[in-house]
Amino acid sequence: MRDAAPKTIYLSDYKPFGYDVDAVELTFDLQPNATRVKSRVAFVPKPEADGSFFLHGEQLKLISAQIDGRPVSPELSEQGLSCQVPQTPFVWEAEVEIDPAHNTALEGLYMSNGMYCTQCEAEGFRKITYYPDRPDVMSVFTVHINGPHPVLLSNGNPVTRGDGFAEWHDPWPKPAYLFALVAGDLVAHPDDFTTKSGRKVDLNLYVRPGDEGKCAFGMQALKASMAWDEEEYGREYDLDIFNIVAVDDFNMGAMENKGLNVFNSSAVLASPETATDMNFERIEAIIAHEYFHNWTGNRITCRDWFQLCLKEGLTVYRDSQFTSDMRSAAVKRIRDVIDLRGRQFAEDQGPLAHPVRPESFQEINNFYTATVYEKGAEVIGMLRRLVGADAYSKAVDLYFERHDGQACTIEDWLKVFEDATGRNLDQFKLWYSQAGTPRLTMKEAWDKGTYTLQFTQKLKPSETTPDPQPQVIPIVAGLLFPSGKEAVSDQVLELTEATQSFSFEGLKERPIPSVLRGFSAPVVLENTLTPEHAAFLLAHDTDPFNRWEAGRSLAKANLLNMIRNGSEPDESYLSGLGTVLADRSLDPSYRALMLGLPSQSDLATALFDAGDVPDPDAIWTACETMGHAQAGHLKDILPILFEENQVAEAYAPNADQSGRRSLANASLWLLSLTDGLDRARAQFETADNMTQQLTALSVLLRAQDGASELRAFETQWSSDRLVMDKWFALQVVQAPPAEVSATALALTAHADFNWKNPNRFRAVFGALASHHPGFHSASGAGYNLLADWLIKLDPINPQTTARMCAVFQTWRRYDTGRQAHARAALDRMLAVSDLSRDTTEMLERIRGDSI
Ligand SMILES: [Zn+2]
Repeated sequence: MRDAAPKTIYLSDYKPFGYDVDAVELTFDLQPNATRVKSRVAFVPKPEADGSFFLHGEQLKLISAQIDGRPVSPELSEQGLSCQVPQTPFVWEAEVEIDPAHNTALEGLYMSNGMYCTQCEAEGFRKITYYPDRPDVMSVFTVHINGPHPVLLSNGNPVTRGDGFAEWHDPWPKPAYLFALVAGDLVAHPDDFTTKSGRKVDLNLYVRPGDEGKCAFGMQALKASMAWDEEEYGREYDLDIFNIVAVDDFNMGAMENKGLNVFNSSAVLASPETATDMNFERIEAIIAHEYFHNWTGNRITCRDWFQLCLKEGLTVYRDSQFTSDMRSAAVKRIRDVIDLRGRQFAEDQGPLAHPVRPESFQEINNFYTATVYEKGAEVIGMLRRLVGADAYSKAVDLYFERHDGQACTIEDWLKVFEDATGRNLDQFKLWYSQAGTPRLTMKEAWDKGTYTLQFTQKLKPSETTPDPQPQVIPIVAGLLFPSGKEAVSDQVLELTEATQSFSFEGLKERPIPSVLRGFSAPVVLENTLTPEHAAFLLAHDTDPFNRWEAGRSLAKANLLNMIRNGSEPDESYLSGLGTVLADRSLDPSYRALMLGLPSQSDLATALFDAGDVPDPDAIWTACETMGHAQAGHLKDILPILFEENQVAEAYAPNADQSGRRSLANASLWLLSLTDGLDRARAQFETADNMTQQLTALSVLLRAQDGASELRAFETQWSSDRLVMDKWFALQVVQAPPAEVSATALALTAHADFNWKNPNRFRAVFGALASHHPGFHSASGAGYNLLADWLIKLDPINPQTTARMCAVFQTWRRYDTGRQAHARAALDRMLAVSDLSRDTTEMLERIRGDSI
């Protein structure tokens, strides 16, 4: 067993470490199966030190240990070592041996295609050497690397390098989770950046030979991020060099190690031929995100892992501001809300619900969630809305000034806002401690020129929040006259009570409300939009988010009716949609979003919320019917939209071009339902970029008429790993519901299905889980197939296994037959002996108590 009795860790048990670490020196002698790591750590006991001394360490072979040069024999356990130490400053030295070649978990030091790489967040450093592996222990690191590789990298600035060795020194104190080392046969895509104060910084993007042509965009995004952070937050980069390395085997998207970011190759490599517009946009956002961590995460870090949202919520918020500035703010906001509802609201609704700052965990890797990241970012957005943009900037400046070089808490973060604004944030803090999505209802009243809006907020009690209290909810509202003219422009209504009213006086006629503009708080607004109200806002709202929201709410209400009682698609929705699509004053990417339908999983969430049992097959059928109705109703305008949004210029992944492509492709998608496949086939033949090629192939596969194109695509791209991930995923995503599991199973027999590579595993099984009727098939085939493969993956990669288990979190929504299949799959996984701590915790939370 890896862990006989997984221990639950509580926020309330936090105790500071008894020692300061003055300096750390590490020496690596790299060998695939027997890397030696020597550490030399200067400890200084704090006055309050109680004499106990424990260093984390897992899966290490201890060769020797010394204190002040004298050999010692520490007591070893599976979690680390303890030792008698002096009460005065002392130097700890140890040598350990590790086996990177057999490290398939991809935590600590591991090998990927002959290259050495590290991943230490959250608790991977303890697999490299014995150390106080906790974020509140910060120190200056010097690293010596010995190995026969042309490129030897670590954090900080280069000190010396020569044949077979290199030395790095990082002058900025940091916790061990930000340590990184990379060694391999890599090539650099170099550039440089001059900071606002005139310092030149060398920039490198390191890739495997052959990938040099996919670096330019990532480098450009890095430079844009550096300039933006100087401009918007006054934050300059602080080392002489900034390196990014692309690695194929990586559990996450990317990691912000100080001065040496490590990226999943899918999150940084891109060329027009191999990456889609959405890939480019995602890469730009992830590069920015990791770069922004240099200040929000690295210079100011987290005291403990319960504070993860301190760095992640803030940094996600910062990267969303960046994308809004680089591209369309309205489109970015709409996409973020679609994502939030799809992932975070679903999390809130099920057994994995937890507050933005959890109060306990067994395995911290399981808390890198949509709640910590995306809801954490929404909380920052609300704070900024409440205090205003200027006060937000002042408070954030104070945060950097007061806490630079420290390991902080949410309390520290909120305190700078209190001090900068004089505002009491006690009630606001509930956003960090109460789990669940607040639900708002609204009532209107009109009396002689005074219009009143009354809101009621409710939060469902849950295990972590048994007695929910009213939260501070900023509701941005505007009022429109029936003519469509704005009567009252954006106001921030601060809802602090369970029920509260807001009045607007002196209006000459009864207005129509537009509330929660820009999605000003992560809440569900219930029963507010009648079809007439929604149709009015779809035609007239001056807030682009709410205009989109009105269309979405009409589509959703319509689909729910179709699912529940087999009714027909509603003409007024379709004609409202037609009007918006024809409005050329609107950005094409915005119009493309208007054509989108709520996801099938969102519809299941809505049905479950309303007390119904969602039927995945009925949801699928309703969405298919709606697609055909859109295609039929819009048959005159779709060919025009398709033609006028073709891009004739050379490909560029910018907002303008990608917007036009998205509207042309959304039109193609619908046109192919009524008008044959000629356009799609022609687009596949002539495409000179991946966006066009992949869309055309998707259309053909959905029509089950793309076998030869699928083969051609495979032949063309068989040597490109990232494009082949798309090839794998696409076949599952576009399979008819009844064939999804069989398609995924068949792909696992493909010679290129390297299941130990997280990207490839997710390509097939992430696609399976995202196919709503396919995964939730009444036969149980989807659940069973995924369970088989998660059982296989767990011993080699617990982290990716545990995260994929989350797709089972909605299992209790469905009918008893599906529930029985899901329960059997969960039980079967839990019955596996030696199941990892990560996976055990996830499965136990998801399964809950036996009924
Ligand atoms: Zn992050």
